[in-house]
Amino acid sequence: MEIALTNTLTRRKEPFVPADPKRVTMYVCGSTVYNHPHIGNARPAVVFDLLFRMLRQKYDADAVLYASNYTDIDDKIIRAAAEAGVSIDVITNKFARIYREDVGALGVLAPTFEPRATAHVGDMIALIEKLIAQGSAYAVPSGVYFSVAADADYGKLSRRAQEDLQAGARVEGEDDKRHPSDFALWKASKPGDPSWDAPFGAGRPGWHIECSAMIAAQLGETIDIHGGGLDLVFPHHENEIAQSESAYHAPLARVWMHNGMLTMDKEKMSKSIGNIVTVRELLEQGWQGETIRWALLSGHYRAPLDWSDDLLKQAQASLDRLYGALLRLKDVEAADVEAPAAFVAALADDLNTPAAIAEISALVTNANNAKKAAEQAAAKGALLAAANLMGVLTEEPSTWFRASFGEHAALAIDTLVAERVAARNRKDWAEADRLRDALAEKGVEVMDGPSGSTWRRKG
Ligand SMILES: [Zn+2]
Repeated sequence: MEIALTNTLTRRKEPFVPADPKRVTMYVCGSTVYNHPHIGNARPAVVFDLLFRMLRQKYDADAVLYASNYTDIDDKIIRAAAEAGVSIDVITNKFARIYREDVGALGVLAPTFEPRATAHVGDMIALIEKLIAQGSAYAVPSGVYFSVAADADYGKLSRRAQEDLQAGARVEGEDDKRHPSDFALWKASKPGDPSWDAPFGAGRPGWHIECSAMIAAQLGETIDIHGGGLDLVFPHHENEIAQSESAYHAPLARVWMHNGMLTMDKEKMSKSIGNIVTVRELLEQGWQGETIRWALLSGHYRAPLDWSDDLLKQAQASLDRLYGALLRLKDVEAADVEAPAAFVAALADDLNTPAAIAEISALVTNANNAKKAAEQAAAKGALLAAANLMGVLTEEPSTWFRASFGEHAALAIDTLVAERVAARNRKDWAEADRLRDALAEKGVEVMDGPSGSTWRRKG
């Protein structure tokens, strides 16, 4: 299986060839930890988790080094800490834990490294000193700035011409920087703000330098894959390239990957519109983590995705069908097989999840139609192997259906199913039929098998 990925740098889909197949490196810009992650924050976490799983399968689990950071120093964090009257680490520790719990509920595996910016300030200071020494950056009273004019390559990722940048850039009250498009590597500290001592004056790092320093410290000067949301191409990733490539004279990443943005009922998600939904709210509404994951993977990662309750309902119905097949084959031992080639090929083709989900749907049809024991075992094995790569079907089927109804409703269903079993045992067929109809009205289908009766959501 050859993996092909669309590279934002070249605007082309290219075969993926790591520099060293025994050490495949990937970095994805992580979360700024000051509030609950919303569903748009979860998209890159899930998309690059899927790629992480693919790479681990192709190159061995231990060969893939995946780093995703926590930005734990930032204006918004400082403001949140001041409002709460606590130090910033109280805020960042709390929300880093919440972030991991929330994306963990979506089946996102822990990356190999989860560096925190504040643990790498020494690396950032060293990198800034290097840039100043070679004339790529300069120190003024408000901080240290990267000199965009000193970097002939600047703009190559976002394909913006320098002249456009200079004309269009906003001056953000930093009137001592030399050019409007120069960006801050270091911000001189304001009284009371968190600050670190540095040869160029006490202060704190800018956002872009954090990633450049953490990538070099954790993975190396050149990495195989750098990912993030499409909104990070400019200025964040452009600035990461400018800093790292000026300092190390080597490409920062061979492949740049960007996921499309998420809209909410066809509108851009924004605080002012008030249409932001957090992962935690969705979980509290009763949506299961796998349903949210499946919904996020239902569209191609590069395309925009419109989030809605209908999308979640479709994802739940799709997973119900997968779990329904497992429930039907619950007494069959799955064969130990690899994920089918057509399914893997779909994912290897730039993570084409819509095509991969169509392949899984065909596997479910196979599983449902399998009659002989060996066919059933093979079909169940193939379905589970494919699902494992997608990060779903991790629940017992009965647990899945219980959870999707909620425990209270599930207990009521259990009672009706048990009453129906009792009616059948005493051959009271009229009562058994009445109970089956009552269950059907609740959207429940009873499945009678050799090892008893089970139930699932009616398809
Ligand atoms: Zn970054």
